Amino acid sequence: MRLSKPLSPLFGAAVAAALLVPPLFVHPAAADPAAPPSPAVRDFGNGPERNEEAAGDTGRAASALRAATPDDPARYPFFHDRDRGYPRRTELPVPAENTADASIKLGLVPYHGIAPRLNELQRLGDRVSVEVIGRSHQGRDLYLVTVTAPESRAEAREQRRIRERIENDPAAAARDRGLAARYKAPVFVNGNIHGNEWEGTDAILRVVEELATSTDPVVTRLLARTRLYFNVTANPDGRFNGVRANGAGFDMNRDFVTASQPEVRAMRQVMIDTQPVVMLDLHGYVNGTLIEPTTPPHGANYEYDLFIKNAYANALGMEAAVKALGHTVEKDGVHPPQIPFRDSDEGWDDWPPIFTPQYAPFQGAVAAHTVEIPLRVNGSDYTQQPVEELRRRSSINTAVAAAAIRATYAFARDRHDALVADQIEMFRRGAAGEPAREVPLGTVPGFGPEDVYTTTYPRAYVIPAGSGQRSATAAARLVDHLVANDVRVERAVRPFRAGGASYPAGSYVVDMHQPKRGLANVMLERGADISPRVDAMYDISGWSHALLWGATVDAVTSGTLRVAAEPVAVAAPTGSLPRTSGPLAMKVTDAKEVRALNDLLAQGVQVSWTGDGSAVLPASARDAARTAAERYGVAFTPAGNATGTPLAPVRIAAAASADELFTLREMGFDVTPVSTAALNAGFDWSGVDVLFVSSGLSHAALTPQARAALEAFLATGGVVGRGATGSAFNAAAGLLTATSVAGRSDANGVVRVTSPGTAVGGGAPDHSFVYSPRWFTGLGAEVTVEQAYAADGPLVAGHWRARTDGTGGGQEDARGQAAVISGRDERGAAVVLFGTEPLFRNHPKGLFPQVAKALYWSSTVPATARDTQPAPR
Ligand SMILES: [Zn+2]
Repeated sequence: MRLSKPLSPLFGAAVAAALLVPPLFVHPAAADPAAPPSPAVRDFGNGPERNEEAAGDTGRAASALRAATPDDPARYPFFHDRDRGYPRRTELPVPAENTADASIKLGLVPYHGIAPRLNELQRLGDRVSVEVIGRSHQGRDLYLVTVTAPESRAEAREQRRIRERIENDPAAAARDRGLAARYKAPVFVNGNIHGNEWEGTDAILRVVEELATSTDPVVTRLLARTRLYFNVTANPDGRFNGVRANGAGFDMNRDFVTASQPEVRAMRQVMIDTQPVVMLDLHGYVNGTLIEPTTPPHGANYEYDLFIKNAYANALGMEAAVKALGHTVEKDGVHPPQIPFRDSDEGWDDWPPIFTPQYAPFQGAVAAHTVEIPLRVNGSDYTQQPVEELRRRSSINTAVAAAAIRATYAFARDRHDALVADQIEMFRRGAAGEPAREVPLGTVPGFGPEDVYTTTYPRAYVIPAGSGQRSATAAARLVDHLVANDVRVERAVRPFRAGGASYPAGSYVVDMHQPKRGLANVMLERGADISPRVDAMYDISGWSHALLWGATVDAVTSGTLRVAAEPVAVAAPTGSLPRTSGPLAMKVTDAKEVRALNDLLAQGVQVSWTGDGSAVLPASARDAARTAAERYGVAFTPAGNATGTPLAPVRIAAAASADELFTLREMGFDVTPVSTAALNAGFDWSGVDVLFVSSGLSHAALTPQARAALEAFLATGGVVGRGATGSAFNAAAGLLTATSVAGRSDANGVVRVTSPGTAVGGGAPDHSFVYSPRWFTGLGAEVTVEQAYAADGPLVAGHWRARTDGTGGGQEDARGQAAVISGRDERGAAVVLFGTEPLFRNHPKGLFPQVAKALYWSSTVPATARDTQPAPR
């Protein structure tokens, strides 16, 4: 049985309460060093609080130094010349000094101070190497430090070969008794992924300096047996700006299933290429220091028996190291560490693979931890506490983080061979296609029935080619995403049968007998409704690339798998153009088609928009269409006699969250961020076709002048709204006749939907995503239901319970209710309201086109004005 402290029941309540508060203002009692220990309250990512504050103009990388991913061999040799020896002695370019860096107030190293320090550390001896592994959204270099004993090129090559053998031939690696003795165990420490949780970076610099200069034979032996990798600051934009998110406004510790951000793609590639046995992700602030492993629910796709024994052991080691620093509540306000697995019932889980330490195990880590250092220096403390007090706290935090790092590399040294063996065993089970194991109760003290989560792996997944595929462009995107995650995908060279179905040549196959099958499955499975098992979840509980990314994915659960196939490095091209001349049609079912269409509109191509969601181009646009087909992989067909409403480039004013702004721009829309304040400052509506409202716009808070300007806009412009803020705006502005009903605010996941409407719902996938779900009742005669929640229970995967106060809000209340509606306001505005989350964190790619269709439809000339305005704007 799990031991639980008396405080544990409050844990869920505290989390639930936090959900109702705008995130930037969540301050656990633990922020006050004098306060008693409280259960950990998370700082929220961009969940329901996304509806509160509109994103400013963060969506574009302002710098001439564009965000970069690691595909340039000249710029990022770490990923391309794996056999270079160590040390590598890179002279890092030093950024200009900038006194606006938020780190300076805390007495911590500013971003511009990191490169000079790393250049110095490399000169101290032959142990430290630094490489640039990418660039942040705002164009700052990302630094990876490797600390290890010197290696010749031949020795580095041998290390690479052993690593590859562990991954690619784990059964042979397991039989090779001498392998561990020849292999340097990789350890990965990630600092500062949340920009305003600073001290991980400073602790890394301190530890690297110790390792660089130590004459202790223990350190010499450590570096002969390990490679220690440090991502000094995973979020330099946030570090500089003093905020949690990167320059694009993304919480990157929620982005690992999506990898929308360049910093996350760099971290992902480091983990794939180094294959760490242990990883540490340094965060703040929880007093006392929070050290994972987590509470249930536990991700069902891990080899959890291997994971928990190592993760728990290292957590105990880190706890001892932190305690040994001698901080106390009485002396300096530091509470003793807490280990959620041991000390709490629920609310700090490892269910979704969106966090760094919950992603790392899929790349080989058999221990991975979030560590939350104790003393809060961000939020209101940053602005309100005296500088001296902030520096006192930061100094303690740095010491705590450094203690956790030292304990972890000692753990890697002491358990070296066992950790390597466990990583081999993890990959071996996958490659052999063994059934998932149920972890025995008591495998570590406190591991009870509440900790047991398992899955059933299918034999394979098939992503069909041909008529069985909903969207070839979506299929290609999914395949490329899987490959980028180091999941093995093959392409059938001949037709085949699997699971009772026939598939044409060109279909993609994910054979689940592969070393990283856990990662393949966590992305491609449907997921599970875990509402009955737990009350409080930390973040999202449902996701599915198979159900939400727009491609058809079949699970093969029975029979043998016999396919003549070749490995896939990149998905096959999908663009096409008919041979015959004449008008062209492109059906918009994927974000790539939206991007292509916006590109064509921007070029001045005459496009009309049909009622069933297709774009029609004149024959004269053939060259532009060919370019779009090649660039975006979209397919054109002969348009025949199809006609539609003339479409112009859609100019959007958006009071939206940062992820929505990013996604709208990614689709090629022209977006101007707005907010209540922006409209009150005298906003010029003349260049706007559609107002998108989901965050940070209150109709009630508009000045009379701003309201009058908005009224004038509503006679011709469209409105697309989402969530609580969109619904409130709809009601206050008197747009559609509908009552917006809120489900429980922390409910989220994948839902089944039906799509009776055509303007927005036409051709939509059978599944959608919700977070703080809403539905619409009391619909006026002008309202069309575009999409509804499935009548027999919507939730497929995730967590959605009724509210505990008896006011409903559960998934049963949403059955058959309208999830997306459209209609024309009597002033003329075409309005669409979403109760779902189609752009959430740039993840559900297959849902993006619904928003695009809403924008296209609402920007076409309003019915009431059509007679007097024959041409669109
Ligand atoms: Zn954090």
